[in-house]
Amino acid sequence: MNKMTVKDLDVKHKKVLVRVDFNVPIQDGVIGDDNRIVSALPTINYLLEQKARVILFSHLGKVDHKDPEKTEKDKKKNNMAPVAKHLATLVDAKVTFVEETRGAILEEAVNNLQDGEIVVIQNTRYEKGESKNDPELSRYWASLADCFVSDAFGSSHRAHASTVGVAEILPSALGFLVEKEVKALSAAIFNPKRPFVAIVGGAKVSDKIAVVENLLNIADKVLIGGGMAYTFFKAQGLEVGNSLLEEDRVELAKDFLTRAKDKLVLPIDNIVADKFAVDANTKVVSNKEIPSDYMGLDIGPETIELFKKELQGAKTVVWNGPMGVFEMEPFAKGTLEVCRAISELEDANTVIGGGDSAAAAIQLGFKEKFTHISTGGGASLEFMEGKQLPGIEVIANKE
Ligand code: ADP
Ligand code: MG
Repeated sequence: MNKMTVKDLDVKHKKVLVRVDFNVPIQDGVIGDDNRIVSALPTINYLLEQKARVILFSHLGKVDHKDPEKTEKDKKKNNMAPVAKHLATLVDAKVTFVEETRGAILEEAVNNLQDGEIVVIQNTRYEKGESKNDPELSRYWASLADCFVSDAFGSSHRAHASTVGVAEILPSALGFLVEKEVKALSAAIFNPKRPFVAIVGGAKVSDKIAVVENLLNIADKVLIGGGMAYTFFKAQGLEVGNSLLEEDRVELAKDFLTRAKDKLVLPIDNIVADKFAVDANTKVVSNKEIPSDYMGLDIGPETIELFKKELQGAKTVVWNGPMGVFEMEPFAKGTLEVCRAISELEDANTVIGGGDSAAAAIQLGFKEKFTHISTGGGASLEFMEGKQLPGIEVIANKE
């Protein structure tokens, strides 16, 4: 990777504006999973060691700007205060939180910053111009600092004022988290060691068209699981009962099947259930035997064996989308076994992208078993689609 990184910037005694992804789940002021905050610590700690003056900003949830009543409600719900408070427990530095996204109080806090101290700005989405990449807002935020660091991988697929606008104005670089994400994903997508096996699952074909399209072009095999498999079965003329089916994508699935030939590997059996519930009655059936009043909720045991065989010897594995409804124990086995098979590969670059897939791998105990689990849901999907991410493109290449 040839992009400027934080190590290439002169940050000593400088005011450094850092876009982080602190979009964490908060319930009644309490942070659920702080993984996103923890993931930004290497960059923050590096800057503190370098005696920089660190200004952090992030979005948090959504803020409606059409209905004033809703705006106030959203702002109240998505206040960054608990995040700043939590950050203060994770770093060895003074952390000041500013309730505003602009104005005299913010400017004073920034001007009073000492070397090795942190200011956290209020939720960027309090500003209507944030998601429109408003140039005036970008100029204002840029005016607070000497340089900019982009460490919010999960937001890098969006061209907003805090991700792209400020980077166009200030000397800018990638933080360590984004650097790590881009390295791992690029190695898999742009420079894969072969054989390269891709696994795509999850709920819907429609969410994954571009991912399947791109992976069919670059991988040696594409294994399909999850809810999207049933649209492919339908395309083969099979009946899928109450399984997830996108009628309007059947033609597309046919097209994929024709073009991909034996590159595309579909499940051969299924765990079907009489309802979408943990206490459902279940059966293992082949694709031809799905009862009309049952739904497929996981891949079956023969499919697990088939997928394990396809994975044997793989040197690159890219995985997006769970193999079944892993949130419910009776339908988690397919995802679990695929996780296990990938984690046992030797000398392979194994990368997971997608919010639910990452959650599944972590929940099933495989957090340390992959080369890389992406922190960016939508951003990692766009990367797998082969798209360029504006928040990364905007950062200059090294001289
Ligand atoms: P990601 O976030 O990794 O891109 P998706 O959002 O596409 O993944 O899909 C994840 C969801 O797909 C999970 O909530 C899972 O329960 C669901 N899913 C997987 N298999 C099935 C299935 N056979 N039927 C219905 N839903 C499924
Ligand atoms: Mg998802």
